[in-house]
Amino acid sequence: MNIHEYQAKALLRSYGCPVSDGRIVLRAEEAKTCASELDGPLWVIKAQIHAGGRGKGSFKEAEAGEKGGVRLAKSVEEAEMLTKQMLGRTLVTHQTGPAGKQVNRIYIEDGSDIARELYLALLVDRASSRVSFVVSTEGGMDIEEVAAHTPEKILSFSVDPASGLSDFHGRRVAFALGLEGGQVKQCVQLVKNLYRAFIEKDMEMLEINPLIVTPDGNIKCLDAKIGFDNNALYRQPDIMALRDETEEDSKELAASKFDLNYIALDGEIGCMVNGAGLAMATMDIIKLYGAEPANFLDVGGGATKEKVTEAFKIITSDPNVKGILVNIFGGIMRCDIIAEGVIAAVKEVGLQVPLVVRLEGTNVALGKEIIQNSGLNVIAADDLSDAAKKIVKAVKG
Ligand code: GDP
Ligand code: MG
Repeated sequence: MNIHEYQAKALLRSYGCPVSDGRIVLRAEEAKTCASELDGPLWVIKAQIHAGGRGKGSFKEAEAGEKGGVRLAKSVEEAEMLTKQMLGRTLVTHQTGPAGKQVNRIYIEDGSDIARELYLALLVDRASSRVSFVVSTEGGMDIEEVAAHTPEKILSFSVDPASGLSDFHGRRVAFALGLEGGQVKQCVQLVKNLYRAFIEKDMEMLEINPLIVTPDGNIKCLDAKIGFDNNALYRQPDIMALRDETEEDSKELAASKFDLNYIALDGEIGCMVNGAGLAMATMDIIKLYGAEPANFLDVGGGATKEKVTEAFKIITSDPNVKGILVNIFGGIMRCDIIAEGVIAAVKEVGLQVPLVVRLEGTNVALGKEIIQNSGLNVIAADDLSDAAKKIVKAVKG
């Protein structure tokens, strides 16, 4: 789960990390009051969406000369004007995809003067199975370019979970970032606080870009992006409360409420499969036969009729879906139960596109019989390859 920048900064502030003072604005009328509560003489107007690259992004509704989703204002009036401009518009960045994201919240922040922009992130590194620091002196809006063209400017090292974090790690970060004098001490403290927040709040990713050095020699977190481990959210009620469902894909949101593992994709063939491995194989074979999957969906081992129905609703709510492939291996679950679930779901939800069903495993003969006798326009398939060919043919002709 991701949270907004302003929420991330509030969390970091509670851990003693240096961030600017700011106000969240939900309605344009509040902008002026909020801005005047901050010191000035510089204000930063920041679109709050769950995606990075806002500074370089552009609004779909932008008029000539208007730039990205992070703008500087020199007066309270200008802050108000920019807030009005951005609220309700759709911001497209390299992380949102072409559809962009609607801006429903604006963060007005007390502007900082910048001497240097640095990069500092913590993440769970799967290769080392440890929490890793990723740092670079080349922070700011071009970090993707740095990663692509001069990766040697990005350093990474991990923390041994047995011995934990010590001042040494903080000094190593400070050295890698070229910090000096009092900044080193500030950095050691910051690294300690960030690491504690990361561990205590079950984060998956914590990115400060940029971490700035101000002209008077202090360091500050000017941007903050945090992702949390979904599997740990049950023990983080204060983090759960920060969830903004409007930022999530509506189909993925519905799926999460029914405990379905669903990821929306761009293709035309909806997939309903049990088991993550089989779901991956199904997506692969659809591509092999020349079409694209519209989703990843693992209905799980104990797929009930209710779950299957819900999965159908989600798949058919995607306007890109031109056909559906149900691929179920009946292990613990019996094929006849699955077949009944599929039939019931189709009867309830309705079926506007071709449906191919492939069943294998326990009670497969009975399952197939139920499908055949259902009177519904379902295409039966014998194996995975047969199923993929049939659905691709039904969709592409
Ligand atoms: P992102 O583009 O979504 O990563 O948004 P950021 O919060 O990182 O802002 C983008 C850029 O805006 C930063 O890299 C800075 O160069 C600039 N920026 C953000 N806050 C301030 C500020 O307080 N003062 C100044 N001068 N620039 C800022
Ligand atoms: Mg940034």
